[in-house]
Amino acid sequence: MAHAPLMTLELALQQLLEQVVVLPDTETVNLLQADGRVLAQDVVSALHVPAQDTSAMDGYALCCDNVHSSDGALPVSQRITAGSETVPLQPHTVARIFTGAPIPEGADAVVPQEECELAGADASQRPVVQINSVPIPGQWIRRAGEDVTRGSVVLARGTRLGAADLGLAASVGMASVKVVRRPRVALFSTGNELIMPGTVTPQEMPPGTIYNSNRFFLHHLLTRLGCEVTDLGIVPDDLDATVHTLRAAAQGHDVILTSGGVSVGEEDHIKPAVQVLGSLDLWQVAIKPGKPFAYGRVAGAYFMGLPGNPVSSFVTFLALVRPFLLRLQGVQDVAMHTVAVRADFDRPQADKRQEFLRVRRNAQGGLDLFANQSSGVLTSLAWGDGLLDNPPSRAIVYGDMVRYISIADLL
Ligand code: AMP
Ligand code: MG
Repeated sequence: MAHAPLMTLELALQQLLEQVVVLPDTETVNLLQADGRVLAQDVVSALHVPAQDTSAMDGYALCCDNVHSSDGALPVSQRITAGSETVPLQPHTVARIFTGAPIPEGADAVVPQEECELAGADASQRPVVQINSVPIPGQWIRRAGEDVTRGSVVLARGTRLGAADLGLAASVGMASVKVVRRPRVALFSTGNELIMPGTVTPQEMPPGTIYNSNRFFLHHLLTRLGCEVTDLGIVPDDLDATVHTLRAAAQGHDVILTSGGVSVGEEDHIKPAVQVLGSLDLWQVAIKPGKPFAYGRVAGAYFMGLPGNPVSSFVTFLALVRPFLLRLQGVQDVAMHTVAVRADFDRPQADKRQEFLRVRRNAQGGLDLFANQSSGVLTSLAWGDGLLDNPPSRAIVYGDMVRYISIADLL
C-alpha cells in the first residue's frame, strides 16, 4: 500500500483549525464556577479601581507644602481607616491614615509611620507628629484608576479564565460571567487487548491483554480543557461495533475522540467506520511520538482519532486536539509556547521528524532527558514535566539551548 506523505505539524494544525466553528452557545456562570472557562464577551469596568485615591501605607496624609513651610511638626486632625469616608484635610494638619483608606481632599502625599514620631500635643489637645522625612507630592498614594480605568476592557472575549482573571473580574464588581458552553466530547478507546482497570486483577489478566491507560489521561486532559466528557469505554476491533459506537457518539456531542485503531492494519477499523458514517482524512503527521492522526466528521460531530501508543496519544492530544478544543471555545492563542532552556544531556541520534522528547527541568536550570523515549513508555511522561520540541534532523549537544514546553502550562 502506498504511504501517504508525511505532513508537518504546522500544516496539520493549520488545516485542523480552519475547520473549527466556535461554539455559538453561551451560559452565565458564577465566578466561583468559572475557572478555566472561556469568556464569551468582553468584561468592561463600570468603575475606576481603585475608585478613589487611597493610601499605600499606614502613616500620615498631608500636604507637602505644609511640611516644607514649617518645622515638620503638625497636629493630627482626623483618623481615616480603610472603608471610611473622609472630610477635607484642615490646612496645616495631618490625617492619621491606614493602607487602603481614601486620601482626604487637600492632602497630596502619605508619609509612612516609620518616618514619623509622636511629639506631644497642641493647645487643643490634638496629638502632634514630627515628620522626619521630606515628602514628595504623590508619594505612597495609589491613584484612582491606576489598576483599572472606568470603561476599559479588563478581560477580552476569548480569555480563558485563570486565578488572576477571576480576581480581576471580581474587582470590577462581576459576580458572574458569560462564557462559551463546554464542548461535549464522547471518548472511547479501541482495542481487543484492552481491559479496564478494576475489572480484572493483575494476577488474572489473560495473556496478551493490557490495561486501558489512555482513557484516564485523555479524560483528565479533556476535563482540564473545559470539556464535558461522555465515556463510552472500550470498543473491540470490529467494524460493526465501531460503526455502532460512532453513530451513538455523534448524538449530542460536539466532538468524538478515540484512541487506537488509526493505523492501516486489518485490525484498525476507525478509518472505514468513520467513512461509513461521514468523512475522514488520515494524516501522517511528521512528529515523534505520534504520526497517525485521523480527522473527520460523523453527522454533526467533529471526529478525531489518536494513535494507541500511550505517549503518542498524549503528545498528539497536546499538539492537535488541545488547540482544537480551545479554539472551539473561542480562544485565539492556542499554540504550545516554548521557552529556551539548556539541555543537560547529549542526544546524538537525530530523527527526520519533529520530536517531542520527554524531559524534566533540573535544579541547575537545565533539562534532563528520560532515558527511554519509546512511545509506549508512559513512565517518561509521569517522570517528566515537559516536552523538548526538537526540530527534524537536529542532534542535541550538552549545553545547547533547546525549546522546552511546560505541560502544566498547557492545561
Ligand atoms: P493501535 O494504535 O491500536 O495500533 O495501538 C498501538 C499500541 O498502543 C498497541 O500496543 C496497543 O496495545 C496500545 N494501546 C492502544 N490503546 C491503548 C490504551 N487505551 N491504553 C494503553 N495502550 C493502548
Ligand atoms: Mg489497536
